[in-house]
Amino acid sequence: MKIRFLGAARTVTGSCYHLIGNGLQILVDCGMYQGKNGDEINRMPFPFDPGKIDYLLLTHAHLDHSGLIPKLVTEGFQGRILTTTATADLVEIMLYDSAHIQEKDAEWLTKKSFRSGKDEIFEPLYTSEDVTASLPSFDRKSYRVIESLGDGIRYRFVDAGHILGSGSLEIWFQGVGGEKKIVFSGDVGKNENPIINDPEHVIDADYVVVESTYGNRLHKGMEESINEMVDAIKTTFKKGGNVLFPAFAVGRTQDILYFLNKLIKEGRLRDLDVYIDSPLADKATQIYIAHPEFFDAEAVNLFKVKSSEGMKIHFTTTVEESQKINKIKSGAIIIAGSGMCEGGRIRHHFKHNLWRPECSIIFTGFQVRGTLGRLIVDGIRSVRVLGEEIAVRARVYTIGGFSAHADQKELLEWLGSFKNKPEVFIVHGEESVSLEFEKIVEENLNLKALVPTKGEEFEL
Ligand SMILES: [Zn+2]
Repeated sequence: MKIRFLGAARTVTGSCYHLIGNGLQILVDCGMYQGKNGDEINRMPFPFDPGKIDYLLLTHAHLDHSGLIPKLVTEGFQGRILTTTATADLVEIMLYDSAHIQEKDAEWLTKKSFRSGKDEIFEPLYTSEDVTASLPSFDRKSYRVIESLGDGIRYRFVDAGHILGSGSLEIWFQGVGGEKKIVFSGDVGKNENPIINDPEHVIDADYVVVESTYGNRLHKGMEESINEMVDAIKTTFKKGGNVLFPAFAVGRTQDILYFLNKLIKEGRLRDLDVYIDSPLADKATQIYIAHPEFFDAEAVNLFKVKSSEGMKIHFTTTVEESQKINKIKSGAIIIAGSGMCEGGRIRHHFKHNLWRPECSIIFTGFQVRGTLGRLIVDGIRSVRVLGEEIAVRARVYTIGGFSAHADQKELLEWLGSFKNKPEVFIVHGEESVSLEFEKIVEENLNLKALVPTKGEEFEL
């Protein structure tokens, strides 16, 4: 069996791994690149023939793992896409949303070009029709059920505890000298993540491909993070401002709602006006509510977001509803995408709040280098948003304890569960972080580890 590292190699986004052997070709994830030059890379031809891929195993719905599926299908993929039921539900709305954004962007760029007399026509990377065409390829699977892909290859998903439906993957295959096993971590969740279960640990493998988003960092504890959030909200409202949460519509938005709900039930916050300014978040929240089988015990009781007392939740779906929020000067909690501020309605809210010292921006997720979110977190004084220069005067909070990713200690625990000393490939991290994590894995766990470069191949 041969493995090729085609994405998320010495970078955080674009997850894609290619397995060739035992008469089959399998992809694990088919993700989009985000951040600098993302669009350019996403438009490059695939480094394989999509028509020859038999299966795509999809670890979870986030676009950096799933976002190029419509392109894969339009370019000739005729195999099956295997993923969990909840991921299949979530990925459908995420891909439509992604197509919609790209269609709008292409339209805007074309218009701009015509206005300037260049008459260049921009095409979206894929359209809503391409998304529709890819949906029949999905097969919906359950956690922990081993299935055969024929020719001696079997696989199963276990719970990665990252977002609803997220999985780590175990794949058994015929290697040199008998059956071997490779495990893909997918994105590993944090212990104590709200709503969903803690990540499941796998105990044996010959090879492991592990993410390293936070391979060099420790998150603050959950209690400390919650205190920080309460403090941020109370201080902001006292000063007469609004609180902005740039958040992924899928996963993070539901986590924030869950915490706010919990804090109200505990009497630590009250009378909240929460605006969820994202049609995608509304749909995603409905999917969360429809899949209580994926929740942990605490969340089954607490995650009744629409009926919460002490908190008014406004889901805004139209542009007009969204614009009404602009008139609110204080006392609003606004949750909007995109999580890294690269697009989406959060930018409109920046225009109305970012320059006001009485407002706050709370980042709860990883900010990829080169994104607007990362610039703000790193302390930039002014940013260009929607064609306007805007001063960053709002208070910026980064609360790592709410991350959907395991930190260094939790990644080491996850890797430490393997009893038989697998070989470790480290992916899905900024280059310096992955390299630092490589050393730590070797020193702390005494495992052979390496950080593959993009396009590198290994015989398993
Ligand atoms: Zn993810």
